[in-house]
Amino acid sequence: MRITRRNMLRGTAGLGASLAFGRVWAATEMDLGDLRITTLSDGHLQLPESFLIGDLPRDEARAILDAAGVAAGGYEPPCNVTLLRSGEDVVLFDAGAGPGFMDSTGRLPDALAALDLSPEDVTHVVFTHGHPDHLWGAIDDFDEPLFANARHLMGRVERDYWIDPETTETIGAERQSFAAGAARRIELLRDMLETFEEGDEVLPGVLARASFGHTPGHMSFEIGGGRALIAGDAIGNAHLAFARPDWPMPADQDPELAARTRLALLQELAERGVPLIGFHLPDGGVGRVEKGDKGYSFVPEV
Ligand SMILES: [Zn+2]
Repeated sequence: MRITRRNMLRGTAGLGASLAFGRVWAATEMDLGDLRITTLSDGHLQLPESFLIGDLPRDEARAILDAAGVAAGGYEPPCNVTLLRSGEDVVLFDAGAGPGFMDSTGRLPDALAALDLSPEDVTHVVFTHGHPDHLWGAIDDFDEPLFANARHLMGRVERDYWIDPETTETIGAERQSFAAGAARRIELLRDMLETFEEGDEVLPGVLARASFGHTPGHMSFEIGGGRALIAGDAIGNAHLAFARPDWPMPADQDPELAARTRLALLQELAERGVPLIGFHLPDGGVGRVEKGDKGYSFVPEV
């Protein structure tokens, strides 16, 4: 185990922490043969409504959101980090937002603790993409890797995008902090970060699938020979993305490409009937896709 400043401090703070009452964490669990999948809450985002609606036809979008119970004004999607346990492997898909992104995020260490797991127990961190709510939690508030014993894996196209100095210039004003933040955290991970390509079996039972558009190198993962799909943000919410998957969503960096990716995934998942795990989907993020007369719907698996 790597000794880090955080570990040393935690050692001295341990007594106080052990006296505190633990919070019981709602987790959604699914067994796929000898693989166990648990979704853990990192908290939720607090976003303006414009993040959802942007330039979309407002009345139509608002009607879909009203029907889904999403109040006007703000948007607070959940953040579900997926934990996969298989043999000795303790694998996280994404690392949450960590300290210092939003007050309402960064709960992943508590969620792990509720399962009697510590960050040191994690053997692999596999990233869907490099946005703050997925990557920043890999680095602790001492600028050290939180999952000190883990191999970290990111799609090569995605890694190359975030370490490219030009990304800060091209990403647009509203996401400039994303670019600087990702580059800094990838630099802090240094030789702990490995890359993979689409089609690679990144771990036994984990196959990488390109799902570009939300970010330039966004990856999804087929689990257990296609028995579930970890979609990350390729299907980013349970309302607009399902009702009107063809719409270019403001949350996506390449809205047109992301819409094509989303539509293809929804069609395929509805046909295959396999569970989908989405980072910002409700009720723990696990559910199935149903095709309706118009668009699709998300059926939580609870
Ligand atoms: Zn996200």
